[in-house]
Amino acid sequence: MNSVRVERKRVKLPVIGWVRMTEELRWTGDIGRVTVSRKDDKWFVSILVCTDEGNPMVQMPLIDARLPVGVDVGINTLATLSDGTKYENPRPLKRYLKKLRRAGRMLSRKTRFSSNWHKARKRLASIHYRVSCIRLDSHHKTSTSIVRKASAIGIETLNVSGMLKNKKLAKHIADASLYRFLTMIKYKAERRGIPITEAAMFFASSKTCSSCGHKKTELNLSERTYHCGECGFTCDRDVNAAINLCPS
Ligand SMILES: [Zn+2]
Repeated sequence: MNSVRVERKRVKLPVIGWVRMTEELRWTGDIGRVTVSRKDDKWFVSILVCTDEGNPMVQMPLIDARLPVGVDVGINTLATLSDGTKYENPRPLKRYLKKLRRAGRMLSRKTRFSSNWHKARKRLASIHYRVSCIRLDSHHKTSTSIVRKASAIGIETLNVSGMLKNKKLAKHIADASLYRFLTMIKYKAERRGIPITEAAMFFASSKTCSSCGHKKTELNLSERTYHCGECGFTCDRDVNAAINLCPS
């Protein structure tokens, strides 16, 4: 009855026939709606798969013993959990960010609206696109992995209004992407009925000692280890922040 078929890395569409895909379908189940779309010069096929996961009658497999986790997000390490787990940003991202900067410089040297300027602009846009694909993919994988192992999740609240005022473009984009990542954790947790706790807006999760509660007045970004002068507690900086965000 369904005219769409998927076999490994290819999909059969009505009228068009078999089309190669860049990756295999990651889920198994009945195929629902299939949408073909185009962005710039790229074609996409979005395939809705009805899996057992959304069915409350089917028990979800427990990946790990579930515990409450605090999640600290950052630009260098994407996410650090209160149990010490770290999710690094994918390695290709760094390489593409370098290419992005180079392409940006190239564009700025071209005469506006010249044919070389158009070429450079197209190249910059295509690198931007790659970077956003790599980010989105890693955000999806990381947020799913976190939600699968948590019984409750604590996150920080990103200051959106302060974020939008930031004039430095690179920082602006990084903040916006972290905001999207936190939103992803939130909706995936909600979908599974996992309670989410958001810290108060200006809660100093990095500066506060997770052992005794003492708050440092200053903490340099280069200090990767948190050391408490009050109680002597020493811990990885991001893990300390994640413990502070962990719902009790
Ligand atoms: Zn302390």
